[in-house]
Amino acid sequence: MSNKKFETLAVRTQSETTQFSEHSVPLYLTSGFVFDDAEEMRASFAEEKQRDLYSRYSNPNVNEFVDKVCLMEGAEAGFAFASGMAAVFSTFATLLDAGDHVVSCSSVFGATHGLFTKYFPKWNIECSYFNVNEVETIESLIKPNTKFLYAETPTNPGVDVLDLEYLNAICKKHKILLVIDNCFATPYLQQPIKYGADLVIHSATKLMDGQGRVLGGVTVGKKELIREIYLFARLTGPSMSPFNAWVLSKSLETLAVRTDKHCENALKLATFLEAHPKVQWVKYPFLKSHPKYNIAKKQMLLGGNIIAFEVKGGLEGGRSFLDAIKMCSLSANLGDTRTIVTHPASTTHAKVEAEVKAAAGITDGLVRVSVGLEHIDDIISDLKQALN
Ligand SMILES: *Cc1c(COP(=O)(O)O)cnc(C)c1O
Repeated sequence: MSNKKFETLAVRTQSETTQFSEHSVPLYLTSGFVFDDAEEMRASFAEEKQRDLYSRYSNPNVNEFVDKVCLMEGAEAGFAFASGMAAVFSTFATLLDAGDHVVSCSSVFGATHGLFTKYFPKWNIECSYFNVNEVETIESLIKPNTKFLYAETPTNPGVDVLDLEYLNAICKKHKILLVIDNCFATPYLQQPIKYGADLVIHSATKLMDGQGRVLGGVTVGKKELIREIYLFARLTGPSMSPFNAWVLSKSLETLAVRTDKHCENALKLATFLEAHPKVQWVKYPFLKSHPKYNIAKKQMLLGGNIIAFEVKGGLEGGRSFLDAIKMCSLSANLGDTRTIVTHPASTTHAKVEAEVKAAAGITDGLVRVSVGLEHIDDIISDLKQALN
């Protein structure tokens, strides 16, 4: 199977057919699984026999979802979680001991930033941030107790791009792990393992689901690391529900075709915005004006569905732009069929200190658009009337 192309793997990787010969994989809503006799039960718990024991550990729907993501990312193994943050936290909690140190890009998802700054200090785990535009400073932040380098690319909400090949070279030189949150790109657009990443994390809630229905998360990568993450998760219980896995596995069947259209719409919208007089600047990885356009072209198949742009008029300009939006949704989610606009400075990042905001590239007039699957003419016309 694994010599097949991405789209084929997404459609044809399925759980074994049951005695009912169903074509579409059924939903296995069961908390536990039964054994024939004491010996089978003993051998299964001793892991001499590979099978499902209890849905906190594994479940056929969850296994199918994980298998697909592994094939898509070129990973050896994986584990699925109830949410993206459960994947991020469980991965960190497994890898890190008290006294360890992490180097991370400062432009990370808000809740991940919260883990680094609010909870890790109480376990004596320290985090040093590098600015997305100053990657030459990364090496100077690495210490003898640094466990891993962490980054998202493209970043949220600034849509900056980090060079995966460059990050990996640093990690290999200093013998630390490279952990990438690949949520914005999806495995269809970018596979960090090809560039040497040891672990790749996803919030499946975003483009993987693609329709804003369920939460989910997944970590894939090196077998021996996933084994440790599995042992942690099996005790602590952050596993993905079979229902969400069933929904998400079906969603992955259409990931490529959906993402193609998302990216086509996003490039058209970014091009429109760039030419608009009320727009100061636009950042989209596949616009030639993006500072890391060449890196984006090297490591991404297409530019993704997220655009950042600066509305003229600062905080008030951003707020009144949002108020004038008629069709698009004002919501915190992203990667939905419906186009979503957010204004981080007055919402998600309203309470963040000025210097932290600046380091994450959040300016007062910054608007983030998660471009959906409506007809591009209607998306453009809504943003156009709101700008005017
Ligand atoms: C949304 C998101 C997360 C968290 O995922 P949830 O499923 O909401 O818990 C983590 N990283 C990135 C980049 C995200 O966009």
